[in-house]
Amino acid sequence: MKKTSTRLADGRELLYYDARDDVVRDAVDPRPLDAVSTTSEIRHDLLLGDAVAIASHRQGRTYHPPADECPLCPSREGRHSEIPAADYGVAVFENRFPSLAGDLGRCEVVCFTSDHDAAFADLTAEQAGLVLEAWTDRTADLAEVPGVEQVFCFENRGAEIGVTLQHPHGQIYGYPFVTPRTGLMLRSAAGHRTVTGRNLFDDVVGRELAEEVRVVLEGAHWVAFVPYAAHWPYEVHLYPKRRVPDLRALDEAARTEFPQIYLELLRRFDRIFGPGEPPTPYISAWHQAPFTADGRDDFALHLELFTIRRTSGKLKFLAGSESGMSVFINDVPPEAAAERLREVAS
Ligand SMILES: [Zn+2]
Repeated sequence: MKKTSTRLADGRELLYYDARDDVVRDAVDPRPLDAVSTTSEIRHDLLLGDAVAIASHRQGRTYHPPADECPLCPSREGRHSEIPAADYGVAVFENRFPSLAGDLGRCEVVCFTSDHDAAFADLTAEQAGLVLEAWTDRTADLAEVPGVEQVFCFENRGAEIGVTLQHPHGQIYGYPFVTPRTGLMLRSAAGHRTVTGRNLFDDVVGRELAEEVRVVLEGAHWVAFVPYAAHWPYEVHLYPKRRVPDLRALDEAARTEFPQIYLELLRRFDRIFGPGEPPTPYISAWHQAPFTADGRDDFALHLELFTIRRTSGKLKFLAGSESGMSVFINDVPPEAAAERLREVAS
């Protein structure tokens, strides 16, 4: 893998990740861009103890551009995008419309492929492996950025999720604090450690492997299952069998196996609702340990993949109980979801 770091015309960082070591990345961004100005502000909710990023500058961001104006496609004569090169493998750049920026964290865009019409599930194992390298490298780099406490790599897929650019891409947030969800998991793990002397994540994964009924897919180094108390209609958690706190700590065997496992999961997601159905909207979210928080060593890297579609043509909305009280009501029993996800295996 070759990594090349460069700058866009307004000073934002752009990184190329290439499978081949002899690729030269020297294209210059010719656009007359003004420096990025952001007005992000983090406000803390005194009642809930969580944080809200107020980011009014994002209202002007690019919204469903036509395909020939896609800012994530390679540049060509007369049409300059965010990526000055004529082609690329994986490209990562700082978001021009960040929710978090400066000493309030960092927002990056990850372009998974230069092919505008592809989906992540269409990538080859080599391409998916390159994306994993990029996620890992960004986690390692952002760990060194002062003020970044936690790195979140994720993909929103589908207009139903609110995706405003069709080009296959994900995002990376470097938060300046431990996120509320991760904080909850750390507290659960600490409580479990106190009561049982054991690791919570090990016990959760061990239970799923023992009960088998919710296991969707198992490799030599990874296991994917629908969690016992799934919140979403179709939700899968993917864990490396050897527990590690973050992407940097994955061993070679787990890295090598990851593309085949993850691509198969994504393909199954697209088949859940049967042929003729539009691609399944999903959120794919990497959970990583914060860098300095207490209990970091008890955290387990894992990926949570879920869809908001509950049946053909119908979405699960976060309505009164979910939005008002944080109590999810799930119409699909986790065991039935797991069975469906096994039925649609390649
Ligand atoms: Zn594109």
